Amino acid sequence: MLNIILFGPPGSGKGTQAQLLREHFKLLHISTGDIFRSEIKNETVIGKEVKQYLDAGKLVPDELTIRMLGNYADSNLKTEMQGIIFDGFPRTVPQAEALDDFLANKNSSINVVLSLEVNDEELVKRLINRGLTSGRSDDSNEEVVRNRLKVYYNQTAPLADFYLAQKKFVSIRGVGTIDEIFAHLCDEMNKLS
Ligand code: AMP
Repeated sequence: MLNIILFGPPGSGKGTQAQLLREHFKLLHISTGDIFRSEIKNETVIGKEVKQYLDAGKLVPDELTIRMLGNYADSNLKTEMQGIIFDGFPRTVPQAEALDDFLANKNSSINVVLSLEVNDEELVKRLINRGLTSGRSDDSNEEVVRNRLKVYYNQTAPLADFYLAQKKFVSIRGVGTIDEIFAHLCDEMNKLS
């Protein structure tokens, strides 16, 4: 299996690039944010539980996130897929450890962590702009947007060290056209085979 984590702050372009990588490399794309939003939209029990966290730009508790990710991967991974692209997961060290265990159970592991680097002012601009059309409540409010960046730097950015220690962390410039950034990501992916 080819397993990739697309890493980076909110607004760095993970979702856009993950879609392109999914098609090009025949991967299962797992976006925990998308799964949570769909649970909320469908007013499920999980949706009701997680709404408060998404609205405030806070992380959903690890236990619930990890359980949901495992269930989703197990029911959506098909034999024709070459692996998984994780988008927005893991976001904490316990999530990263749980992901290693989950993949180890499948005799697999993370191949590479591709980190999209974008400066804060550009991120805030992109997120607020996206809020104008996406209908995402967590993009529309500048205070929530800035809180999400704070959560990212406090709780998620330290994961870089976790993957640097495993020599799996690669930084990619996340500013430029979608095609340019995709080409850089593909270069890194092609180094794997
Ligand atoms: P995203 O679409 O990745 O920006 O995620 C939107 C929101 O979903 C985040 O602000 C969190 O509230 C929640 N979320 C998504 N992924 C995770 C995760 N791995 N751990 C905890 N909360 C998450």
